[in-house]
Amino acid sequence: MTSPVLPSHGRVRPLGLAQVSLTGGFWGERQAVNAAQTLAHCETWMERLGWLANFDRVADGTTGPDRPGWSFSDSEVYKLLEALSWEVARSGDAEAEAAIKRLTARVARAQDQDGYLNTCFGHGDQPPRYSDLEMGHELYNTGHLLQAAVARLRTAGEDDLVRVARRAADHVCRTFGPGGTAAICGHPEIEVGMAEFGRATGEQRYVEQARLFLDRRGHGTLRDIPLGRAYFQDDVPIREADVWRGHAVRALYLAAAAVDVAVELGDDDLLRAIERQWERTVARRTYVTGGMGSRHQDEGFGEDWELPPDRAYCETCAGVASIMVSWRLYLATGDVRYADLIERTLYNVVAVSPSTDGRAFFYANPLHQRVAGRPADQDEVSPRAEAGVRAPWFDVSCCPTNVARTLAGLHGYLATTDDDGLQIHQYASCSVRAELPGGQPVAVDVETAYPQAGTVRVRIAADADTPWTLTLRVPAWADGATLTEGGQTRPVRPGPAQVRRAFRAGEEIVLELPMQPRLTWPDPRIDAVRGCVAVERGPEVLCVESNDLPSPDLLESLVLDPGSAPRAAEGAVLVRGRALDLADRPWAYPAGPLDEQGDDDWFDVPLRPYHGWARRGPSSMRIFVPVAPQERTGA
Ligand SMILES: [Zn+2]
Repeated sequence: MTSPVLPSHGRVRPLGLAQVSLTGGFWGERQAVNAAQTLAHCETWMERLGWLANFDRVADGTTGPDRPGWSFSDSEVYKLLEALSWEVARSGDAEAEAAIKRLTARVARAQDQDGYLNTCFGHGDQPPRYSDLEMGHELYNTGHLLQAAVARLRTAGEDDLVRVARRAADHVCRTFGPGGTAAICGHPEIEVGMAEFGRATGEQRYVEQARLFLDRRGHGTLRDIPLGRAYFQDDVPIREADVWRGHAVRALYLAAAAVDVAVELGDDDLLRAIERQWERTVARRTYVTGGMGSRHQDEGFGEDWELPPDRAYCETCAGVASIMVSWRLYLATGDVRYADLIERTLYNVVAVSPSTDGRAFFYANPLHQRVAGRPADQDEVSPRAEAGVRAPWFDVSCCPTNVARTLAGLHGYLATTDDDGLQIHQYASCSVRAELPGGQPVAVDVETAYPQAGTVRVRIAADADTPWTLTLRVPAWADGATLTEGGQTRPVRPGPAQVRRAFRAGEEIVLELPMQPRLTWPDPRIDAVRGCVAVERGPEVLCVESNDLPSPDLLESLVLDPGSAPRAAEGAVLVRGRALDLADRPWAYPAGPLDEQGDDDWFDVPLRPYHGWARRGPSSMRIFVPVAPQERTGA
C-alpha cells in the first residue's frame, strides 16, 4: 500500500495513493503545478545554494564548518525526495524518477561507515556529532530522511534510498536506544519518521525508539535556552500536557508522532492526551484560517486567545504539520472534526502559500497585512519569513518542500475505508477504486466545482453484491446541506451523512452544500479582533484587499455593516461597508471615546478568498474588519 501514514489499526484506513486520483479542479490543478514546476524549482535552488554540494563535500572529505546553509538544509533534500517519490507513484514521471536517483546517489556517498549521515557535524573540523542537540537538528534531518525512505519503500520497494535510511535509523537506535545516550533532538521529527519507518519495514524496534524519544521529552532533558524549554516541548511530559505550546512546527510534529506511537503500541492514555491537547489548542490557540502560531520570536503558540491578526505567524509548515496530526487522529478515531480542521487548513493555509506558477511561496500567513510588500526578486533568496509577497526561496526554506510533499500526496487525504464502506472527507473531482476487506469493490467518481460551487456528485462505478455504506462529511459550517439519492432529497446535518445499500453502477448521490457567504464572529476573548467580523464562504475564509478598494488607504478605516447579508457576486462576495472619517492626531489616545464620524457613503466592499491574496500584485489585506458603530448602521 502506498500512503504517507499507514497505521496497523484504527477506526478507518487510509486509501493507497494508487486507489485515488485527482481529476482536476482546485486541488488537481495545484497538484499538477506542483509536479510541473515546484519539484524542479526546489532542486534548482538547493543546487544553486550549495545545499546539495554539501553532501558531495562530505564524501570528498573537503567539507568544514563554513558549509553553506543552516544545520537543517539536508532535510530539504529529503523532503524533496519524499515529494518526488509520491509524484513518481502518481504519474510515473521519468524526470522525477531520474531526480530521485540523482539525489539519492549524492546523499548515499555522504553516509559514514557506521550509518551516520549529516553534512553539518562530525566531518573535518566541523563540531562533533550530537554536540548541539538543542539546535543542531541532526536527528530532525534523519527523521525527514526516514519519511522520504518510507515514501520510496511504499512506492518503489527497497532501493538505495531505503538502504541508506536503514543504516541511518540503525545508527540512531544504537546511539540513542536502550543503553545508549538518553537524549532527544531539539526539533521533533525523528519520532514521526522512526514510527512510520517501523510501520513500513515491519520492524517494531523503530517504533520503540520513537516511544523512547517521546518519553524522554518534557523532563528537562535538553539544556535550557533563552526562549525556555517550552520552545522544544521539553517543559512538560507529553502525557501530562493539556495544550500545544512553544514552537508550533515542533509541537505538531511531536504530536503526530505521539498519535503514531499510541496507535501502534495500544497506548490509549497517550492518544487521549493528544486529543485533549488538540481540543484546547483548536478552541483557544488557532486562527480562523486554521493557522497555528502567533508569536514571531519563537515561531510559536501564544497563550490562550493570543491571536493577533497582523502578528499572526501561521507558518505554512505549521499548517502542514497540523494536517499531519489531524489526519492521524482521524484515522485513529473516525471523528469528522479532524477532517473539518484539515479542510480549513488546506484551503486557508496550505493553498495560500504557493504562487499560481508554483515557483514562489508564503512562509508566514498573517491575517492582516498593514503595508503592501515589495515585489519579490525571483532571483533572490528572501532573508525574511514575512514579506507580504511570495518569495522564490528563503534563507530558512522549510515551507516550499513541505508544500511540495503535501501536494504530491494530497489525493491520499480525500477518502478512507472501514469494514463497512467508503468515507469521503475532502471534496474534489477524483476517482476512487478501492476494495473492502471482503473483496467488495467500492468504486466512485466524484465530480464537483467545489469550493466554487457546493454541488458534489458521487457516481457509483461498480455494482455491489452486498450492501455497503457511503459516508460523506458534511462540514461543520454547512447548515442547510441536502443529500439526494434515488430521487429523494433530504436535509443532512453537519457530521457524517450516510447512504447504505447494494449500489449499482451509474447511481448518483448528490451532496448539496450551502455556499452562501456568511459572517463569522470571533470569541470576544480574542482581544485583538474584538468588535470585528470575518466573512467566509464554504471552506474559504475571505479577505479585503487594498487593490479592490477605491483608495488603498481605505483599508485602515473600513467598517462593515453586520446587519447586511453578504452576497455573492461575480468573482467576489459583497458586504455593505463604509469608511470612518479618522483624523490624524498627534497622540493616539484621547481623553474620551472618539466620535467616529463616517461619511454616509455606504458601498459594496468586495471580499475574495484569502488563498488568492497578493496574486494580483502586492497589496495590503485584512480578514477581520471592524463592524460599523451600531447606532449608525440602520440608515
Ligand atoms: Zn516552514
